[in-house]
Parts: sequence; C-alpha cells; structure tokens
Amino acid sequence: MPITSFHPPVRILLGPGPSDVNPRILEALSRPTIGHLDPSFITMMDEMKILLQYAFQTRNDLTFAVSAPGSAGMETCFVNLLEPGDKVIVCQNGVFGGRMKENAERCGAIPIMVQDSWGDPVDPNKLEEALKSHPDTKVVAFVHAETSTGAQSDAKTLVELAHRYGCLTIVDTVTSLGGSPVKIDEWGVDAVYSGSQKCLSCTPGLSPVSFNERAVARIQARKTKAQSWFLDLGLVKSYWGGAGKRAYHHTAPINALYGLHEALVILQEEGIEESWARHQRNHQALRAGIEAMGLAFAVKKESRLPQLNAIIIPEGINDAVVRTQLLQKYGLEIGAGLGEMAGKIWRIGIMGYGSNLRNVLIFLSALETVLKELGANIELGVATRVAAEAA
Ligand SMILES: *Cc1c(COP(=O)(O)O)cnc(C)c1O
Repeated sequence: MPITSFHPPVRILLGPGPSDVNPRILEALSRPTIGHLDPSFITMMDEMKILLQYAFQTRNDLTFAVSAPGSAGMETCFVNLLEPGDKVIVCQNGVFGGRMKENAERCGAIPIMVQDSWGDPVDPNKLEEALKSHPDTKVVAFVHAETSTGAQSDAKTLVELAHRYGCLTIVDTVTSLGGSPVKIDEWGVDAVYSGSQKCLSCTPGLSPVSFNERAVARIQARKTKAQSWFLDLGLVKSYWGGAGKRAYHHTAPINALYGLHEALVILQEEGIEESWARHQRNHQALRAGIEAMGLAFAVKKESRLPQLNAIIIPEGINDAVVRTQLLQKYGLEIGAGLGEMAGKIWRIGIMGYGSNLRNVLIFLSALETVLKELGANIELGVATRVAAEAA
C-alpha cells in the first residue's frame, strides 16, 4: 500500500501548547512562498518587528523571531549574553529553569541555582541572598510563567533586584506572552524570549525575542564568539536588523512567518489588554467549574496563571486513563504533569484562540463525565452551570 497524505484528527488542544490555531493563521500559512529577500517579504518582516514590539510592549530595535521553537529563543539569550566563566543566577521553580541551567553550562558559564518549590513563584528574597553571596554575577535568568506548574513570578520585582546588583536579565515569557501582562520596557527586561504556539496560537517553531541596548552592548563587548553559529546575534542581526540592506544568513521559514504575522495582527485587532482580560475571564469560569466539581488547584490563588491551570489529580483516579479517555472520546488534549509533578497534576491550557467559554464548558462536561464513570462522587452538570454563571 502506498503511503497517502497525512490528515490529522480534529482536536481541541487544551494542554500546555501547542494551543488551537486560529483558521486565519492556517490560511496565512498556505499563501504562496516567495523569496526570503523579496522586497515584499522584507516589508512583511519590518511589520513583524512592529507587531512583536507591540506584543512585548517594547521599543527595542533588536526584536524579531528566531527561526526555531521557544527553546532556541532560550538558547539565543544564553549563548549571546554569557561567556565562558561568567556567573549566572538561575531561579528554578519548575522544568524550564532546569533547561536554563543546561544552557548556562553548555555556554561554559557557571550557573548558581536559586530553588523554589514547584508550584510556588520565584522568591525575590532568595534571589537577593544569592546576589549578595555572588557579587560577581553577570546575569539573572528566570521563567515568568512556569508552564510545568502553572505558577507566575513577579517579573518586575525580580528584574529590579537584578539591576540593583548590576546584573542583566534573561526572562522566559513563552507561556505568558499574549495571555497575561508582559511589559518588557516598563519592567526593564534586558533579554526576553517567547514561543509562537502558546498564547499567540500560532503553529510551533518560531521564537519571538527582544534585546534592549544594555544587552546589545554586552553582546558587542564579547571577547569570545558565541558558541552557536546559527544563533549568533551578531550574524542574525544583519538579516533581521539591517535597515533595508539585509544579508543572507539562513533561509527564513517564509510561510511560518506569514503565520506569526497573522497571529500578531489578530492580537493587535483584539488589543493586548483585552487579550489579557479574556484569558482572565475564561480562567475564572474554569476555576468556578473545577472547584464546583470538588477539585483543587496546585498553585496558590495569588500566583496562578490564567492560561495554564494545574489541577490536582484526585485520590484514586488514574491520570493516564482520564487523559486517554478525554482524547479518544472527546478529542480533547490536556497536559500531564512534568518532572516531579508527573502523576500529580493535570495541566489545562486555556490559551490564545482556545481561550473561550465554549472550550471551558466542553472541557468541564467531558471531565466530569469521565470522572463520574471512573467512580468519582460528582453530580453531573453542576460544574458547567457554575462556570457559565461565573463567566
Ligand atoms: C513551551 C516552553 C518552552 C519551550 O518552547 P518550545 O517551543 O517547546 O521549544 C520554554 N519555556 C516555557 C516556559 C515553555 O512553556
């Protein structure tokens, strides 16, 4: 039998990403491919920069999308800002802080780890202690929205602290961008990266990044070459930055960039504050339903992310069975716990295009049905009624 075209099943993506892609973006992806130095493509790239500046709330000139997923945005920040022997404080409160440590080590830098419990935000007091003990630290790195636990840290306070001790900052906003307030200039973040497939609801594979003047000056003052040729900003800049005269570095993923452009146009049309408010509203509805079902959140109320809801798996319920049934019977994807949270939580992403009341109600009714069938003490219909009332 010859292999035929691949047709994916229709799903509702309520996991930690990718999130459901707006059909307008899928249509944009299918527009004709043109050359990556075509004048009209270059116009599109110039617009992309303006749209990304809006999403990040920044005027940073060096703002563009790395041609690879969020992890490559992370790596871009680390390989460009750190040189061998540099000390970097990495605040870890979940999986992605661990990935930052890996990056730091591979740059030949010395990571100083500041640990917080998974599910808690990063503790500024612990960061300050580490800054005092390591006055020669060059960079502070942390995750704004820890997707592995659903906790949000106070980026503004952490950045302020880092600056007070003369450090630059690297901030992961992969899950926060577009879903909850990210204010790069107001907070003074020096280097930031994000991802296309979470609250921007684009297809995976692109990583928006932005660097302020302090970060650019640090990069220009490097004594050693960045370890990665592909991610070396000195080289990439001549393609993305070059005011009219763009030089070939690598072939940009043309159609993928059409998709991100469309995603950002959609964000601009809605208005970023409205997008943040919509994520908050749908979180409130979900929360009301989850609590009405007798389930609990893993993260304290004041640091909960609206777009990534970590729910404690009730006693006696088999994690994998529930997720499999949700997928097979209802076409619903939710996320499992990662690392030390494996088997303990479900991660419900209510992100981007997928952040709407319809998805919240579908999810709640599917979950209560599955849990009831597995013997949980649940009165069907209560969660959706309460959620709809809370919306
Ligand atoms: C998803 C995610 C990443 C990695 O992004 P990829 O596109 O999967 O490489 C990094 N940090 C956080 C907080 C994420 O949620």
